[in-house]
Parts: sequence; C-alpha cells; structure tokens
Amino acid sequence: MAGLYLHIPFCKQACHYCNFHFSTSLKNKDAMVAALLQELRLQREYLEGEPLETIYFGGGTPSLLSQLELDAIFEAIFKHYSVAPQNLEVTLEANPDDLAVLKINELRNTPINRLSIGVQSFSEADLRFMNRAHDASEAHACIQNAQHAGFENLTVDLIYGSPTTSHQQWAANLSTLISLRIPHLSCYCLTIEPKTALAHQVKKGSAQPVDDEHAAQQFEHLMEATERAGYEHYEISNFALPGWYSRHNASYWQGKKYLGIGPSAHSYNGHSRQWNVANNANYIRSIQAGDVPFELELLTPVQRYNEYVMTGLRTAWGCSLLKIKDLGFETHFAEGAKVFLEDGTMQVVGNTYRLTKAGRFLADGIAAELFAG
Ligand code: SF4
Repeated sequence: MAGLYLHIPFCKQACHYCNFHFSTSLKNKDAMVAALLQELRLQREYLEGEPLETIYFGGGTPSLLSQLELDAIFEAIFKHYSVAPQNLEVTLEANPDDLAVLKINELRNTPINRLSIGVQSFSEADLRFMNRAHDASEAHACIQNAQHAGFENLTVDLIYGSPTTSHQQWAANLSTLISLRIPHLSCYCLTIEPKTALAHQVKKGSAQPVDDEHAAQQFEHLMEATERAGYEHYEISNFALPGWYSRHNASYWQGKKYLGIGPSAHSYNGHSRQWNVANNANYIRSIQAGDVPFELELLTPVQRYNEYVMTGLRTAWGCSLLKIKDLGFETHFAEGAKVFLEDGTMQVVGNTYRLTKAGRFLADGIAAELFAG
C-alpha cells in the first residue's frame, strides 16, 4: 500500500512564519493544474502498481482548487493508479476563509473524506501577528460548517509559542477544539524560519522572538489537556482520539512508499528519495516538455539510519533496536542512548526505545545526538 501527495502551490497571502513553497499570484493556476494532470500520467510507474491507500492534497492552499479542477485530478488518479478499493483516506488541507457552506458542499461531492483545517488560533491578535487570511469568526464557522455537512474526519492545525499567545488563550484554543470533539489535532510550535517575513521582523526588532520556556509550558499544557480528553499523543505534533490517526502521515513515519506530485513535492520508494523543483514556472515548462524536473538522492546506510531515528523518536512507536541492528548501527545507538535513559528523557521496553513526556519537547535535539556520520 502506498500514498500519493499533491502539492498545490498557491496561497491568497503569505503567512509571516511560512517557508513552504507557494506563490500568491494565481495567474498560472490553469497551467499548473494541467501540469499536475500531466505529471500524474508521467509518474504512473513510480509506485510499481502498489495500490494507493491514502491521497493527500497539501500546499500551499488546496482549498483554492475549484470542483472542476478537483474532478479532473481525481479522474487522472483513478485512470493511472491502482486505488485500494476500501478505506481510502483522502485529505484536503483547507483554510477557514475558503470553507463557506457552498464550498464545503462541493467538497462533499468529491472523494475527499478528511479535511485538515488551518485554524492556527481563535485569537484575532495571533491571526494578525501570523498574517493569516482568516479571522476568528471564520475559524469557528468553518468547523461548524464542516461538521454540519457531515465531515466527521476533521483535523485542525494550531500554533503555540507565539509571543502573542498567552497561556490563557492557548488553553482556550485547545478547549474549544476538545469540546467540539475534533478527532485529530496537529499542534506546532511557532518556529522562526530563515528568510521569512517573521525572521525579518525579529531581526529588526518589530516582532519578539519565540521564548523557549513559554513554548515549552504551552507544550506541557497541550499534553495534559489532550491526555485528559482521551487523545493519544502518537507523534510529537499529532494527537488523535482512538481510531482517528492520520493514516497518510503515519505512512511517512513508518517508511511506506509515497509519490509526490507538483512543484517541491517529495517522493520515496524505499531506497531513494527525490524532490521536484520548487519553482512554479520551471515546473510547468519542464512538464510541458514531457520531463519531470526532480533531483534524486540514493539513501546511504547512514542516511537511512538517521532518518529512522529522527522519525521514530518523534512517534509513539519509537525506535526498534532490531531494525537499527538491521541498519548496522546497534552499538552506536545503544551507547548514545545511555545518557538519555539516565536523565529520564528516554525509556526502553523490550527492544523499543521511546521518548518520555520529558523528552518529547527535545525530540529533534535528542535524535541529532544519536545520528551517525
Ligand atoms: S496558507 Fe499555509 S502554505 Fe500558505 S502561506 Fe499560510 S501557512 Fe504557508
């Protein structure tokens, strides 16, 4: 079983913290959709006939696609790929300002059965600081609209750690979603990525940097509030009520094959990773000429081990010493892990190493200490 990712590289406006690939000019949207259809055809052998069990529209802002454009994309998918007959998970990332009743009803007439809504916060001050295109009333309304239209499988994105987000506001954001019984939450710490508007503002002093202690306290509250409400913390940033894990994202973390379509999209087939050019005009031009514009990297044993540690430690499944032994790094890992077992940020049960609650906020740093090479 495999996954398919489609990158829709357009947004209405640029959020100040964002470093994803997108354009705020929609003038090439028609040509882009034609190129995506063409790439779906060109890449039809990549998964070697493995049936798709998940399809994910990410971006950018996939909710900018019209129903006609979505219909054309689904037609190409069903024509060129084998699709698991039952239980297909089809997710579309959507922004609250796009999810009016009419749009949601249109989406119900497509194979999309899961919406990932970019709420980020219910506070006007947070949304303005982030330069989101929606306001707090749209954030509330879109969830109601989606639930009324019958979308049960919802996931909502939130951001914590912003200098504008008080602990009280953060608790209110979480309790709003918990009381609505949203089955899946993705909660990310605000990070200041190089070359973003936010990085520029922090540099010139017009925005405050992220305070690690403030962010860590909000992460702590996140773990407590979701645990009390019955959510399972199955990946550092992801929380689900039982039975509502993101199957698409879980397949990335479990090393399954996936094909990425569109500019900047990544693909993985078990032994190599490739990524398309992150430039809309160059992508369209190359696809029109019949070439998929990508760079490819064959994964060395060191890269495979490092990736496994990086992703495994972020998940509730942890890292298996047997798998690490297969990759040839058993001694390196076991030696390096001793310090984290001693300081209580890691625990081992049988052959599986997992981070404790105290270790989760430090996951990326701990993984980096265990890297080889
Ligand atoms: S809508 Fe999403 S992809 Fe677009 S700028 Fe904002 S965070 Fe980035």
